[in-house]
Amino acid sequence: MARILITSAIPYINGIKHLGNLIGSQLPADLYARYQRGRGNEVMFLCATDEHGTPAELAAAKAGKPVAEYCADMYAVQADIAKRFGLSFDHFGRSSSEQNKRLTQHFAGKLDDAGLIREVSEKQVYSNADGRFLPDRYIEGTCPNCGYERARGDQCENCTKQLDPTDLINPRSAISGSTDLEVRETKHLYLRQSAMKDQLDAWIDSKTDWPILTTSIAKKWLHDGDGLQDRGITRDLDWGVPVKKGEQDWPGMEGKVFYVWFDAPIEYIACAKEWADANGKSDADWERWWRTDKGAEDVRYVQFMGKDNVPFHTLSFPATILGSGEPWKMVDHLKSFNYLNYDGGQFSTSQGRGVFMDQALEILPADYWRWWLLSHAPESSDSEFTWENFQQSVNKDLADVLGNFVSRITKFCRSKFGETVPEGGALGAREQTLIEDLTKRIRAYEGHMEAMEVRKSAQELRAIWVAGNEYLQAAAPWSTFKEDPDQAAVQVRLGLNLIRLYAVLSAPFIPDTSAKMLSAMNTLDTRWPDDVSAALDALPAGHSFTVPDVLFTKVTDEQREDWQSRFSGTRA
Ligand SMILES: [Zn+2]
Repeated sequence: MARILITSAIPYINGIKHLGNLIGSQLPADLYARYQRGRGNEVMFLCATDEHGTPAELAAAKAGKPVAEYCADMYAVQADIAKRFGLSFDHFGRSSSEQNKRLTQHFAGKLDDAGLIREVSEKQVYSNADGRFLPDRYIEGTCPNCGYERARGDQCENCTKQLDPTDLINPRSAISGSTDLEVRETKHLYLRQSAMKDQLDAWIDSKTDWPILTTSIAKKWLHDGDGLQDRGITRDLDWGVPVKKGEQDWPGMEGKVFYVWFDAPIEYIACAKEWADANGKSDADWERWWRTDKGAEDVRYVQFMGKDNVPFHTLSFPATILGSGEPWKMVDHLKSFNYLNYDGGQFSTSQGRGVFMDQALEILPADYWRWWLLSHAPESSDSEFTWENFQQSVNKDLADVLGNFVSRITKFCRSKFGETVPEGGALGAREQTLIEDLTKRIRAYEGHMEAMEVRKSAQELRAIWVAGNEYLQAAAPWSTFKEDPDQAAVQVRLGLNLIRLYAVLSAPFIPDTSAKMLSAMNTLDTRWPDDVSAALDALPAGHSFTVPDVLFTKVTDEQREDWQSRFSGTRA
């Protein structure tokens, strides 16, 4: 039995995510976790909310809540939606947890011991009215280049010129609008990533099985221009992990917090301790996933993320854990995704354009979305959600192919043999051909799933469903029943067993429907079909079943048009 550690990039706390976010990491990570569990492997699947930083503070202020309360509320909302989408995390943690606080401070202390932290004195804009330093993008003013009046301190949105806050004409706080700003001196900690360049380079070079897209992004950051740069890991904010050196105070760093990019990936590890603490487990139980000196040397660690997160996962986070000098588990494989676009444009959280996770579940069950998103995952390039394509995919793949197969065979059996697997007859040449075809296809499906080729896996699964339909069409038990009821019986018996087989194979994609199919077949047998012939004998003659309700209803043209206009922008 293999042991597989899986993490999904952690979603930011300020709001409900759209379907583009979902297919960019959490959903494919869930597919892989469910598949590996289905194969009998031991899986630890972790995700969390990313809660620190200025955007959370501002969102809380907008909602009129203290930031800790806002984050607790939004965490509950995100956890509930994740559950309703069937995301099977072993633990869904929070980067604001005590466990992450302590671990982040621990890493900072170890990095400092290793000489990898330096203090830097900087000038930064302070807002007297807000009583705080302002991050560059929370300073607004007139662009010196184009005259746009709402340029941000880091960049002008209008002419895209990169700016310094001091370049702005008539600068003001984006938080309060106050112009009572001054430049103050402040001290920050920098992680000396430049000192770790060779170590990171050698580590990336050892990853010969990574996609070129991933290694080329990492190499670019390592070598372009002046090479890998040191990065600030602290901020003058209230909301975050207080800067400490392990358990000790850090002189000169009072009132400062670690920058969100430093503590967020550490939550991957802290989340496992949260899991242990929440389930009455010991430290040894989570450390066997994360410490190579405590049992994790045989763990395979896979990360799922959008392409914009690749630099953090190939360089910044590895710099933190390699730099600590401690034997933490490093990532073995990164699976990254391109972007999903929405109906001729982009998903937009700020404009409410596209379908958000809560809205999706208001109009259709999770499996409809899971199937479409996974079968159209933006792997080799960006992909696009259109309502026409969604309607076609649901109606053809789910309703016509899988749903119709299940309905047809169970109803036919009930009308001729009753709700019991019929006995009699023997497998003939047609059945043997089907078994050979299915065996080939299931082995291909396993290969694609192991390789995390999401679209190819979906295509193969669909082909497996189609093979059953084609068999049923050709065998036509409704015709053979008249002359040779024994032959009809063996065909129907095979068909009913195919339902169980399909439920097992399809569970990673459409878990709720898979559970319905197993329940209708009155079985708890979810054994993987290593031997397809034996798997098609799992439900013996005499085994009782029930005809399930319709598994998938078709999307009508009226629904499609209604949804298309409803989600075109500005969510209610
Ligand atoms: Zn401009």
